[in-house]
Parts: sequence; structure tokens; C-alpha cells
Amino acid sequence: MKIGKLQVGLGIGLVVGLVAGLYFSQQDAPLTVASANAATNVESTNRAKTLESPAAPIAVQDEPLISPTEARERDFYTPNSEALDPNEIRIIACGTGMPTPRPAQAAACFLMELGNGDKFIFDIGDGAGERLFALQIPTAFLDKVFIGHLHADHFGDIGSLFVSAGLAGRFTPLRIWGPRGATPELGTKAAIDAMEKMYAWDLAGRLGQTDVRGFTTEVHEFDYKKEQIVYQENGVTIRSFPAIHSIDGSVSYSLEWNGLKIIYGSDTFPNKWFIENAKGADLAIHECFIAVPDLISKYRLTPEAALQVGTQIHTAPEAFGKVMSMVKPRHAVAYHFFKDTDTTPGVLERVRSTYDGPLSLAEDFMVWNVTKDGIRERMAVIDEHTWNPPLAYPAKPVSAADRVGYSPEIEAGRLDMSEVLKPIFEQAGEALGRKFEYPDK
Ligand SMILES: [Zn+2]
Ligand SMILES: [Zn+2]
Repeated sequence: MKIGKLQVGLGIGLVVGLVAGLYFSQQDAPLTVASANAATNVESTNRAKTLESPAAPIAVQDEPLISPTEARERDFYTPNSEALDPNEIRIIACGTGMPTPRPAQAAACFLMELGNGDKFIFDIGDGAGERLFALQIPTAFLDKVFIGHLHADHFGDIGSLFVSAGLAGRFTPLRIWGPRGATPELGTKAAIDAMEKMYAWDLAGRLGQTDVRGFTTEVHEFDYKKEQIVYQENGVTIRSFPAIHSIDGSVSYSLEWNGLKIIYGSDTFPNKWFIENAKGADLAIHECFIAVPDLISKYRLTPEAALQVGTQIHTAPEAFGKVMSMVKPRHAVAYHFFKDTDTTPGVLERVRSTYDGPLSLAEDFMVWNVTKDGIRERMAVIDEHTWNPPLAYPAKPVSAADRVGYSPEIEAGRLDMSEVLKPIFEQAGEALGRKFEYPDK
């Protein structure tokens, strides 16, 4: 097995990642090159020589190889700590898993950040919202979502973008692109209309309390059977092309900008459109489903269902490899399997039986920086104690007259808390140099 040539993001915790990095550094050159400074390179070389010749006497060092106090570069991505180059695309996996909710992996979601400032979300599966928020990107910039198909593991967290991101600073409509269905009720527009209806109480309860201008959508529904441009703004072209998955109405996307091309396959059986559209791709992201034996023993499908779902509705790892061997992207990304220590070797072996090119087995918070010069894969390190990201634009003051209010029966149950609550208004007034009126009721 050519494991030394792989940049497999095992990433089970930082320590494991660093140990793995050291291991890989002893093998053939890794696929991606960390931008270590010159001093670090010298240190690495010395250390490698020592390890390569265990019989040689270990040189006595008067000085430590590494400063005990000075900062040194680390090989992970801390969100918002790095400027994006004007010619660079950063892709962050915000969901790589399955319909089964699990803390380790949300369902499908990939964020693409372009050097021109544009940001695009491809699929927003269950659980992906908290990953997006953890990146601390002002939500005003997270206003464009491209849905590949309407399975919950690919759009189930659209509500967190609609409601939570709207409350946190997106004061403009949430823009959503997605396919029509074979019938109108199976299309993206019908799904989003139904979502807005579902949040009727949520919105009514916020009127006159906070700025709710973001509680609107702009849906762009298009023919799933066509290969077509569905978005073209600011030098960015996004195309949709058909996919084959479950029933009619699944698509995949390509994003082209500044001479770079990223392909995102939502779920699909291997298909001719992906091969054609992914030609020349810098990064090709495609589903790679849980292997059939694990679908039976761990995912608890019947053998019949596992064979059908794992090989005919989705792309089995062997088929993923075959697709990538046909496409030959600069770098292939596999997602849509539970990436555990017991499943990963099997997935890798199956993919490697049909594909020997550059590969990432994706997991949540894996990051790729793509330029003409190179593709760098790392893990992002996030703070789980997420608060709202900074506002890109100020919130608009609201009017108490817009509040829906309570019925007399409910209002009558209110206790008099003015003794303890009035001082909060006074303290805020003193701290901010303004006067805040305590509501009489
Ligand atoms: Zn699906
Ligand atoms: Zn799926």
C-alpha cells in the first residue's frame, strides 16, 4: 500500500494528527507541503537524519533545536487568522457524514471562500449549521447556498441559516439555488416555502424585538436535467449538471473562478456528467459511501438494502476511485462515510484499488487551500463555545409598535419584577450614557 504518499487526514485530535504528520514526514514526500520557515526545515532535516541512522551516535547538542519561548508555525488552520490570497480558494468541510446525527460528523456541507471575498455554501445537511457558526464568519457573508438535492442530510440545517444566521447579522434575504423536482411539490421552491411557513411562530415572536430583515429568501430553482450556468456574478461561474440519486431531481455543481475549478458532487451514482464537468478540476469533491459490509454490520441495514443503497443509489468507494481515475483531478476529496479508525482503512483500501492519485478522505473541519501553485490540506481548530460572529452591517432599530404582544389572559399572569429589573435598565443607561425606559407592563 502506498500509504506514504497519502495525506490522509486521520485527525483524531491534534496530538494524533501531529504524530501522524511526523510519521508521514519519514516516508515519501507528503502530497501537501506545509509552508514551514527555513529554520524549521533545517531542524526537520537534522531530526530526520538522526532517525534514519539509529546506529549512528547521537550528536550532543549544546543548544536546543527548538526555542522554548519563541512562537513557531503550526500546521492547522485557525479560522480568521489568515488572510486569503486574492488568487486563492479556501474550502472547509462543514459536514462529511451521514443522515445519522453524530457529534463527530455533521451531514454534507462544504464552504468555499474565494479571494475576491465571495463565499458559497454547497449543501447544508443536518448539523452543519454549528460548524459554519464555529468558523466565526459574519453571517452577512453566508447568504448563498447551493443545494444538490433535497435529502435532509444535504439541506436539513437550512433553518439554522435562515433563522440563526438571520438573527446574527444577515439582514438580507437568504439566497438559495436548487433543482426543480419532477413535479412542483418535489422541488426546492416548494421545500423552502414550506420551511418559511414552519417558522411562522418564530418570526411572529421576534417582530418588534430584533432586526428580522433576514427572515426572507430568494429561491433560484432550475431544471435538473440541463447542464447550465445557474450563477454568474463577480467573475464567479457556477454550473449545475444532472446527478443520478434516488429519484429525479439531484444535481452536482462546478465553481469556476480566476482559472480555478472546484467540483462538488452532491449524492449520485457515478455518471457521465460528473466526468465531463470535472475535467481539469483543481479539487473534485464526490461522495464515497460507507462500504457495504459496514452498512450491514454497523449501519444496521439489511443486506438487500445495503447492496442497493451502498452500490446503486450512492457511489461505493471502489466506484469513487474509478470516477477519480477517469477525472484525474489535481486533488480528489471523498466524503459521506463515517470516518472511524475501524472503517477508514477499509474505505482507503477500496478507493486505492481503483485510484492512485492525490486524495483526501474528508472529515469535518478539514481545510483545503487551493491556488495555481499548490493544494494544501489541513485541519481547522475551532472553539466549540461559539458566540455570534462580528456584525458586517449594523442592525436596524425596531419599533415596539410592531410587537404581536400577548392576549389579556396571558398578560394577566405576569409577576411584578420591576424592583429587580429596573436597576438593569439604569445600569445599562449609566454604562452606555443613554436613557432606557423601563416598560410599564
Ligand atoms: Zn441523498
Ligand atoms: Zn447524502
